[in-house]
Amino acid sequence: MLLDKLMKKLDEKKERIIEIRRYLHEHPELSFQEEETARYITNFYNEVPVDSVETNFGGERGIVVTIKGAKPGKTIAIRADFDALPIKEETGLPFASKNEGVMHACGHDGHTAYMLVLAETLAECKDQLKGTIKVIHQPAEEAPPGGAIGMINAGVLDGVDAILGIHVMSNMKTGHIYYRSGNTQTGRSYFKLVVQGRGGHGSSPHLANDAIIAASSFVMNLQTIVSRRVNPFDTASVTIGNFDGKGTFNVIKDAVTIEGGVRTMSPESRYIIETEVRAFTEGLEKSFGVTCSLDYNNDYPVLNNHPAVTEHVRQALKQASIPEVEAVLETPPLPPSEDFAYYLEKVPGCFFYIGAMPESGEAYPHHHPKFDINEKSLIISAKAMAAVVASYYGGSEI
Ligand code: MN
Repeated sequence: MLLDKLMKKLDEKKERIIEIRRYLHEHPELSFQEEETARYITNFYNEVPVDSVETNFGGERGIVVTIKGAKPGKTIAIRADFDALPIKEETGLPFASKNEGVMHACGHDGHTAYMLVLAETLAECKDQLKGTIKVIHQPAEEAPPGGAIGMINAGVLDGVDAILGIHVMSNMKTGHIYYRSGNTQTGRSYFKLVVQGRGGHGSSPHLANDAIIAASSFVMNLQTIVSRRVNPFDTASVTIGNFDGKGTFNVIKDAVTIEGGVRTMSPESRYIIETEVRAFTEGLEKSFGVTCSLDYNNDYPVLNNHPAVTEHVRQALKQASIPEVEAVLETPPLPPSEDFAYYLEKVPGCFFYIGAMPESGEAYPHHHPKFDINEKSLIISAKAMAAVVASYYGGSEI
């Protein structure tokens, strides 16, 4: 049986996944600058019997590997990201970053390590596969606009029936796997508003047009969007994180710059909030006579897992009875945003979570200088993804 064969082969390669992860951990690169990492990934496939390796896919060092099974069937994409963060590592690990100020602090080294070995293993079992596997090695998950969008625009999802991805999670127990159907991770938007009034003498407000008063009114009005416009059963946040009002006591401020961030859990609330911010901006010009320039950006969308694919993943994981997996559980929604969401806007799919909490010591959060994962999560990732892929390709459809 395909799954048994995959599991046996992966067990034999357990240590190699860890070696690869440690090598990548030592050599992290920032988003959109992952030259060496992309080369490492490409070279890995030199001796692997895959059908094609396309490099620089989407123009930003993405790599797409195709594995064609012996018989026709579905095309499933599996994706792993490979960028690191501008963080100075403080883990003290023997394989800590050698690239000062750059760190794999989100586990993307682990994603790439398990994916390389899984891809190799799948290629070795090609004769038993029904269908095609597209392995997506994606750069730049951490920095807007993200690496996914460029790969999608270049056609990475052409002919793809479903897409799967995982994230190792330092705050989830090792041995647990989590899934969620529907809206699972937040969408993110951000904006910058410049309110231009007219400066003047503090004693003569009637001869000036105070930008601080107009901008303050905007900030206060904004608080009504979530409370009055967003469905109370949905959830969202609007935060003003910058208000550049610094001046002096006897001068009326001529201009103020405001910066805000928006998180949403549905495309509806994302749309409502943008519409309202734009309406308030127009209203501000009318009621205060100021001139506004608004730069509003929708960043990563809400991550929406397809119900049928998610159910397929859940069943495949349960039926695989992976010895290292204690439980397959539903997770509540998760606050961070993730650019895998772009793929899910185009094709049905599921992004699920592999517990990677360290066995001892403190579990530092993702993006922390002391972030680390339990390396047991790597073989679990490989086996979990193998189980789901095998359920699509092994012949016995769930
Ligand atoms: Mn991440």
